Amino acid sequence: MTGFAFHNLGQDGAARRGRLVTAHGTAETPAFMAVGTAGTVKAMTADAVRATGTEIVLGNTYHLMLRPGAERVRALGGLHRMMDWPGIILTDSGGFQVMSLAKLRKIDEVGVTFRSHLDGSAHHLTPESSTAIQNALDATITMAFDECTPFPATHEQAAASMRLSMRWAERSRAAFEPRPGYGQFGIVQGSVFADLRAESAAALTGLGFEGYAIGGLAVGEGQQAMFDTLDVTTPLLPTDRPRYLMGVGTPDDLLGSIARGVDMFDCVMPTRAGRTGRAFTSRGILNLRNARFAAEDRPLDPACPCLACARHSRAYLHHLFRCDEMLGPMLLTTHNLSYYQTVMRGAREAIEAGRFAAYAAATRDAWSQGDDRHTL
Ligand SMILES: [Zn+2]
Repeated sequence: MTGFAFHNLGQDGAARRGRLVTAHGTAETPAFMAVGTAGTVKAMTADAVRATGTEIVLGNTYHLMLRPGAERVRALGGLHRMMDWPGIILTDSGGFQVMSLAKLRKIDEVGVTFRSHLDGSAHHLTPESSTAIQNALDATITMAFDECTPFPATHEQAAASMRLSMRWAERSRAAFEPRPGYGQFGIVQGSVFADLRAESAAALTGLGFEGYAIGGLAVGEGQQAMFDTLDVTTPLLPTDRPRYLMGVGTPDDLLGSIARGVDMFDCVMPTRAGRTGRAFTSRGILNLRNARFAAEDRPLDPACPCLACARHSRAYLHHLFRCDEMLGPMLLTTHNLSYYQTVMRGAREAIEAGRFAAYAAATRDAWSQGDDRHTL
């Protein structure tokens, strides 16, 4: 067998319950993937990431090709062994970070030429080299190299950008080395234009990828425009392949996107917020730096099973952030990832039970009630 299996375990409206079976184990979907930019989910040991229920970790091609270098990672046994994550790893293509971080970028038909944001050294990324680098990293899931269309874009700009990405997708597919249990995802582009999304989906499905990502969203278009774009895109994708919404999002974004047929997500939000003292909880977002927590001797979220909630008080977490202690970001990242995984587990159970809409409504209702210290 080449590629990997994606089992349909149930459906509730457009929401899907699935299981991805790969060379590096299985992942239950809908799934939230933790972002491990430079070969580490920041502030977390691999064991701590596993304990949150996370089954897939992301690696960033741009960062890893610059440091420590793809060949170094390969020589160290691949990304799984290097970072002690034997589970599923998805790597991005590097294209998005080149556009957001690198200096002196130049795009042409062949690819992107850029200078490293670290030392100014010159590099070239093409569909072929991006695919080869992801192969050297030993990514379970390789992403096609594309251009993330900036927002806003005119129809003409979005069409030209999307068509370039589709030509690159064909070259990425040709460069991909099929192996049992490994796969490659194509990325649908086309900004917020339904006709362009349809053209892109048709071009990609003709290439027969193992999964399909929806890119170019969560770039400033707003939640409603994102949902509207999903409404016209997910029905055009094969039902027997996983669908991945890139770079999304808040827990509310996840629920709304699951309802529209998305299976996989990644976002820096829970990990980045955890490092700055912001907690996602069943009662909404709390800022642990706030003085109101200084004397609260109770768990951050009594409904959460994570280490931070089971063993520590809000007052202690507040103290750690006030003192800039490393344990603060470690505990709060653990909590935020755990909370995201709790939301996803609840979504999976609700889809199986045919009550996803009620689950999403109840979860949103609890967020909007807020965190009243007298009601918990
Ligand atoms: Zn917790």
